[in-house]
Amino acid sequence: PAKPINIIVPAAAGGPTDTLTRVLAAAMSEALKQQMIIENVGGAGGTIGINRAAKAKPDGYTLLLYHVGMATSPALYRKLQYDTLNDFDYIGQVADVPMMMIAKKGTPANNFAEFLAYAKTNKDKLTYANAGLGSASYLCGILFMSAVDTSFTMVPYKGTGPAMNDLIGGQVDFMCDQTTNTVPQIKSGNVKAYG
Ligand code: ASP
Repeated sequence: PAKPINIIVPAAAGGPTDTLTRVLAAAMSEALKQQMIIENVGGAGGTIGINRAAKAKPDGYTLLLYHVGMATSPALYRKLQYDTLNDFDYIGQVADVPMMMIAKKGTPANNFAEFLAYAKTNKDKLTYANAGLGSASYLCGILFMSAVDTSFTMVPYKGTGPAMNDLIGGQVDFMCDQTTNTVPQIKSGNVKAYG
């Protein structure tokens, strides 16, 4: 490359996609002997950043790193400003990351069964943080709600980086996110893990 390469992360800084991209960008920068610029464009479940990538000049100097939300947003948004299948060239998968259900510190449940009972009893009070309609954290929450036949108030963020900050701060009650983001906080005792 003759100039720096832009990587669009369609989520806020500090979240799993951002963390992974920073690791990847450092390795790419070393291999390509070129600077990589990470641009965080969060919001609307990643679709704003994805659209930014779709509209960029197709010269190889703009990359996008995203996840399952790329595949599900066409079914969840009435109108997207890009065509997921035709506006991108797919380069490759860089990670396969599991997701975990976590809750704020002090949640009075010590295993998944207890959490389920607690969540059902307190369904009108509990808030579920996520990265917006169509993001993986959103999908995980919806899957959980449908499995336990209970709905919770969804609180959307521009990414689960800021959502994690609020979970640690106790402003929201629970969340499902990639291990990239959850494991360090579980190990530090900042959140409780359920599954
Ligand atoms: N972890 C978020 C999600 O999948 C996206 C991010 O902030 O990296 O919902």
